[in-house]
Amino acid sequence: MPSHPRSTTSGRERESPAGPGGARLDAGVREKIHLDILRRTGAYRTGDHFLLPSGHHAPEFIDKALVTTEPSFTEGLGDVIAKNFAPWPTDVVLSTGPGALILAHCVARALPSRPVLVYATKGFTGQGRQVRLPDEFTRYVRKGNKVLVIEDLITTGETIKLLIRMVERAGGTVVGIGCLWQRATKVDLRKDVFSLVKRDFPTYEPANCPLCAQGLPLNVEFARAESPTEEPLEPPRPRRRSP
Ligand SMILES: [Zn+2]
Repeated sequence: MPSHPRSTTSGRERESPAGPGGARLDAGVREKIHLDILRRTGAYRTGDHFLLPSGHHAPEFIDKALVTTEPSFTEGLGDVIAKNFAPWPTDVVLSTGPGALILAHCVARALPSRPVLVYATKGFTGQGRQVRLPDEFTRYVRKGNKVLVIEDLITTGETIKLLIRMVERAGGTVVGIGCLWQRATKVDLRKDVFSLVKRDFPTYEPANCPLCAQGLPLNVEFARAESPTEEPLEPPRPRRRSP
């Protein structure tokens, strides 16, 4: 009987897929393989001076929209995440939003417990950043259900915290969080987090940017507006009553 993810120091150390010849790969090697995959999709770029959508400058850039452009890569990465969580049967895979849905689909498809797949919507209301389930999905996240949350990129962890609270309010349990890339390496999300890449990189205010100081030209190619999935949230529809 496998132990619960939180009962070991790190779920990441437990599962080492066998490499060629049956050799077990250590975490650093696996992370390098995953980084190379993301580099091949064009989602991960290094060695430049990027203007980020936030207005900061950085020597590295990960473009969420490009992460899932290669279906066979996405399926392979989804398999790795599913394999990590397979010992803890999941009823529901919850994508943090439409953006992570392709990856979440690949994870759900590979999980032996055959979970359903739903997604949350993120956005802003008068009370700041909020998450909610579209009305069609609320019956899937309910008392006693085990939920695996899938995110593409964890930057601050705030969305994940809101989703955990939402699931727990509905009476469900979050069994873990799977993601492609965890930038918030020091944030404690109170759950087992499995990330294919766990790596933060520095970002700079333009006024204090060492790359500007070196006179490197600024790459503005990726400085477009924030994700279009972040919109003002409408309140849930009132439930229709049967006559
Ligand atoms: Zn700069």
